[in-house]
Amino acid sequence: MRISVIGCGYLGAVHAACMAKLGHEVVGIDVDEKKIKELSGAVAPFYEPGLEELLKDVQETGRLIFTTDVSAARGSDVHFICVGTPQKKGENAADLTYVDAAASALVPYLSAGELVVGKSTVPVGTAARLAEMIASSAPDVHLVWNPEFLREGHAVSDTLQPDRFVYGVEGGSEDHPAVGILDRIYATPLSAGTPRLVTDHPTAELVKTAANSFLATKISFINAMAELCEAAGADVTRLADAIGLDDRIGRKFLNAGIGFGGGCLPKDIRAFMARAGELGADQALTFLREVDAINMRRRTRVVELTRELCSGSLLGKRVTVLGAAFKPESDDVRDSPALSIAAQLQLQGAVVTVTDPKALENAARRFPELQYEADPESAVTGADALLLLTEWQEYRDLDPHLVGELVSSRHILDGRNVLDKAKWRAAGWSYRGLGRP
Ligand code: NAD
Repeated sequence: MRISVIGCGYLGAVHAACMAKLGHEVVGIDVDEKKIKELSGAVAPFYEPGLEELLKDVQETGRLIFTTDVSAARGSDVHFICVGTPQKKGENAADLTYVDAAASALVPYLSAGELVVGKSTVPVGTAARLAEMIASSAPDVHLVWNPEFLREGHAVSDTLQPDRFVYGVEGGSEDHPAVGILDRIYATPLSAGTPRLVTDHPTAELVKTAANSFLATKISFINAMAELCEAAGADVTRLADAIGLDDRIGRKFLNAGIGFGGGCLPKDIRAFMARAGELGADQALTFLREVDAINMRRRTRVVELTRELCSGSLLGKRVTVLGAAFKPESDDVRDSPALSIAAQLQLQGAVVTVTDPKALENAARRFPELQYEADPESAVTGADALLLLTEWQEYRDLDPHLVGELVSSRHILDGRNVLDKAKWRAAGWSYRGLGRP
């Protein structure tokens, strides 16, 4: 089928490449000329494992092109909207200007029988509003909401083999004409057994925000337990292992640490609360305010613990932060807890050096006042304290004896509880985890 993908960021670039991989003819459209130039040369504009190889692979087939010209969407059977929905400045609500602009720009090029498919994460009610807008200018074009669940760092496999598809169509019926068209688009993963659920528009929109809220709640739950473990002298990692063995609870997303960040969870739970308020259902989501507060408290706690590690004062202390991305296998630094902690430490007088295998360029753009060092050995040399804040494999694998030779004092704070504390202590380090004695 012929497909256009409007918005080629973390979501759209991967989606465009994967749709071409599935055999479709794809045009990726973005307003960012630099991004389009890179994508056209099969260069991934951000780090995502496997994406660059995939881009090269599918571009050789001639099935994938990129452009800034939205008129190139003309003639596609399906148009995916993948633009950003960031948090509004100074407010909790989502900024829908990009979604609205993308839909309006697309309308003149739509023809009867085509589908517009929203993949961006939007407040419930957006699909109905856009459907009305499209129907008034392009009759016989259906709008579907097909939320995306990919995880950065696993985006290619999550797109090619997702754990479910949700199609939100007007009325929510399996007989809706859009269902068959999307089934053809996703024929390969569907034939491999991926479940697909057909819902109405608001349910599909809510599936995404509800899923993210649940995940955020699970992380904040275990971080709240970490606070309690610290007060009671218990070990949150063993607690998580034990409660996680109950399969009603499960062990995934129960890793206590510095909390969640990134371009999705924080802004999605805030937008969800804001939308609930508009709908008169704000009480239903007041618990998310606590989820957000627990999450932000972790960052302050790490600053306090670092001060303790540095004998009570941060002034002039050389602190090295291992990791800048909001999670490993990504260069995304949007609302990265690691960088937020690094900036707070610097403000309190520490001399902070940040290192990361992939995210330093993005980090330096966001926090130019911090010092960055790409070479991990140089970054740790002379440090008074090390903070492991993004659990890249290379930091998990650090040898405490070798690193011990480079630092000025053997103090380490394991912000993700991934190091073997006995091994580090045996090598002469003072080790602090979060929620661990
Ligand atoms: P992003 O900022 O990386 O990408 C958005 C892209 O849209 C940018 O390249 C921007 O230039 C482009 N854009 C903006 N306005 C445009 C327009 N009018 N026409 C064409 N292009 C335009 O954001 P992202 O991380 O890819 O997220 C996109 C959406 O997907 C968000 O709603 C997000 O919540 C959702 N989502 C993201 C992920 C993820 O892991 N990143 C996962 C699931 C859902």
